[in-house]
Amino acid sequence: MDMTLRDTLHRPLRDLRVSVTDRCTFRCTYCMPKEVFGRDFQFLPRSALLTFDEIARLARLAIVQGVQKIRLTGGEPLVRRDLEQLVALLASIDGLADLTLTTNGALLTPTKARALKDAGLQRITISLDALDDAIFMAMNDVGFPVAKVLAAIEAAATAGLAPVKINMVVKRGVNEGSILAMARYFRGSGHILRFIEYMDVGTTNGWRMEDVVPAAAIVARINAAWPLAPVDPTYTGEVATRWRYVDGSGEIGVIASVTQPFCRTCTRARLSAEGWLYTCLFASQGHDLRALLRGGASDAEITATLHAIWRGRADRYSEIRSAHTRAFTKVEMSYIGG
Ligand code: SAM
Ligand code: SF4
Ligand code: SF4
Repeated sequence: MDMTLRDTLHRPLRDLRVSVTDRCTFRCTYCMPKEVFGRDFQFLPRSALLTFDEIARLARLAIVQGVQKIRLTGGEPLVRRDLEQLVALLASIDGLADLTLTTNGALLTPTKARALKDAGLQRITISLDALDDAIFMAMNDVGFPVAKVLAAIEAAATAGLAPVKINMVVKRGVNEGSILAMARYFRGSGHILRFIEYMDVGTTNGWRMEDVVPAAAIVARINAAWPLAPVDPTYTGEVATRWRYVDGSGEIGVIASVTQPFCRTCTRARLSAEGWLYTCLFASQGHDLRALLRGGASDAEITATLHAIWRGRADRYSEIRSAHTRAFTKVEMSYIGG
């Protein structure tokens, strides 16, 4: 008998994204616009954050329920001190197949990359939206230079956190002119560049459909310069659609969450830094697991809660996205974890 935990649309729970902080060193205009996340913004107090032991306990229980992959994220996960200690705790849990991290790279020194690798991190994704300083600095909105992110990418590769994936959010009229330059730079590097459609996450980034460059147009542009061929997904539920350069110079990915939604195969849950579980990136409501942890709940009680949450899940926001859904109250991506 199939004992797999499944939601109302028959999707199993396979991935857990864990946000370890809601803070960040950048103020990317599409994620944490300065006007909202300014000096007066109230971030979570330290006491509200799950401890590494609390995160590891929830992860262990989720892995028993089918989670195979954990991605550490935020906010900026490397802002959280001694993150390698959490990596070590998670890496020691039986049954976890994949442990990875998404970062803006600003704090990823060679020493940090090595410490994360030694602790058991398997791979890493580093975000970079352009190779041109003026464009990148305008997008991260704190004047952070491209060269430091490129150095972080090399530090990660040298530490063996390979293949390194590079996330580029494409926004029309802002950095779409950087698509070919980014493709050219990372072709043949062994790193995998992934183009992400600009999404209507949260309620603060002023998203408009007109600002989205469809993934199909991105692929067409690159294909005209360097022919591409489709690659089969590595596993069901993979977010990125993969393409390889026909000349053997590696592969790219496109994440078409807006124009080609993939809710049908979405196996992801997200744990916020303060221990709320969300079953969709666009959810407005989460489930307070920290209250259970700190209220002395047993493993069996927490597991029963996980079951109830996942069994009741019906989320498919990207499939029903419309002018109407844009007005929904949604939690911010920096809070819930990208
Ligand atoms: N701070 C880390 C970073 O930037 O890599 C991790 C957290 S960030 C929220 C995770 C990913 O979400 C990044 O690659 C970022 O570019 C992407 N992201 C943030 N806001 C987005 C948006 N509105 N649309 C599409 N992707 C977005
Ligand atoms: Fe920070 Fe990442 Fe959001 Fe940029 S995308 S503001 S780096 S959390
Ligand atoms: Fe999954 Fe929600 Fe994104 Fe659909 S909109 S793919 S259900 S996170």
